[in-house]
Amino acid sequence: MKDYDIIIVGAGASGVFLSYELTKRDNSAKVLMLDKGAPLEKRQCPIKKGAKNCVKCNPCHIMNGYGGAGTLSDGKYNITTHFGGDLHNYVGREEALELMEYVDQVLCGMGGADAKLYSTASSELKTIALRNDLHLLEAKVRHLGTDRNVRILGRIFDYCASRIHTQFYTTITDIQRQPDGGFLVKTDKDESFTCKDLVLATGRSGSKWISSICDKMGIGQEKNRVDIGVRVELPAEIFKHITDDVYESKIVYKTDKYNDQVRTFCMNPYGEVVAENTNGIVTVNGHSYADPALRTENTNFALLVSNKFTEPFKDSNEYGESIAKLSNMLGGGVLLQRFGDLVKGRRSSERRMQKCFTRPTLQATPGDLSLVIPKRQLDNIIEMIYALDKIAPGTANEDTLLYGVEVKFYNSKVEVDHNLQTKVKGLYALGDGSGVTHSLSQASASGVYVGRILAEKYGFQAR
Ligand SMILES: Cc1cc2nc3c(=O)[nH]c(=O)nc-3n(C[C@H](O)[C@H](O)[C@H](O)COP(=O)(O)OP(=O)(O)OC[C@H]3O[C@@H](n4cnc5c(N)ncnc54)[C@H](O)[C@@H]3O)c2cc1C
Repeated sequence: MKDYDIIIVGAGASGVFLSYELTKRDNSAKVLMLDKGAPLEKRQCPIKKGAKNCVKCNPCHIMNGYGGAGTLSDGKYNITTHFGGDLHNYVGREEALELMEYVDQVLCGMGGADAKLYSTASSELKTIALRNDLHLLEAKVRHLGTDRNVRILGRIFDYCASRIHTQFYTTITDIQRQPDGGFLVKTDKDESFTCKDLVLATGRSGSKWISSICDKMGIGQEKNRVDIGVRVELPAEIFKHITDDVYESKIVYKTDKYNDQVRTFCMNPYGEVVAENTNGIVTVNGHSYADPALRTENTNFALLVSNKFTEPFKDSNEYGESIAKLSNMLGGGVLLQRFGDLVKGRRSSERRMQKCFTRPTLQATPGDLSLVIPKRQLDNIIEMIYALDKIAPGTANEDTLLYGVEVKFYNSKVEVDHNLQTKVKGLYALGDGSGVTHSLSQASASGVYVGRILAEKYGFQAR
């Protein structure tokens, strides 16, 4: 059995930035970071190598491994407390923003400075959107692009390598409290480690596991919402005036029919649509590259409707999973439908797709999303597409592609204090796994925050 001072479970954005912050201090503590996924250089989705659809790797390369779900993502770091998590409710708004700015500085220092920092603050788009009943949320965003993002993560790994021992392909199966107040950590390889402080940074892919640990240790959890929708893909020219100006626009619309809010999410100019596999369920996502040579002719973004349930049904994630399973059942993975076919009430077929002017960037099964997505959400999405058409004419074109389903699962909110420490002393929960954050900036910021707390606890000096 190997003994450590600090063990970090999960090498995603939050774990990586925690390890960075500990390394930056004069860190004499023994720190181990464990992740069930692969090292950075081994992470590649088979779809990128030519597989027709998701082959359900275990664990999924998109979600697991060094850098976590953020590694092969678009690398869009939104500096804002208007979306992307509730870190500000734990650490205060000013500190949350300071932490996100700090993360941005680190990324710039590691090779991100060439990526432009966009801001919606003084954009004309806000006025144009308002005139059309659409609301643009305020944020600064630095888009690293998948390629640059991977290079930066490689540099952070090298920077931390001398001080943080990282072990991949290792799933933590159980943790136990020790009589001395420390923790015993068990892996799927029959290894055991002990530590004084244990940090759970297991992201969305570890949602069920962290929930079971909380149940076992009597740590409270509050069910979160689930967002359901589609990924829209259209020719990049349609959104060019918006994406050139602010890159990522988070636009919110309240539908006439149900008074529900629909929002755009994760906009990827010249990007590609990807499949992601969370605990065996295939959903859709998107990303784009910084290198102009890797650009596609399309822009993609999600349209999402939030769903939160009250008594007697409370499990929002289960609801989202059931809808995603339906699409997986009908399409063998992701379903694809032209907007024109959806509004005309007919499925998209291979034959209709051949006549489509917009070329899909993800191989998906042509089908009928109305057999999968409940009427209320689908009506909301259709209404939003017509609303967006007013500020980006062409959005409601019949060849606009809709991939389904996009589901944003949010982990249950783990009960933590303002230090992101659970009621079990020495046990911390951060990043998306804690349900506190839902984004790269906020997850990374939570890692820095706990890194500083642990550094102070162990008396590390800034280097
Ligand atoms: C395709 C895609 C694109 C995205 N694009 C963006 C974007 O542009 N901007 C943005 O802000 N957000 C984006 N996101 C979301 C963003 O990636 C997450 O918010 C962020 O990665 C959360 O960081 P985290 O450290 O909390 O968790 P994660 O990054 O999910 O990392 C958790 C890690 O824990 C490991 N793990 C889980 N359970 C165990 C276990 N039991 N034992 C060992 N290891 C375990 C996993 O392997 C994983 O590597 C995207 C997500 C996806 C999937």
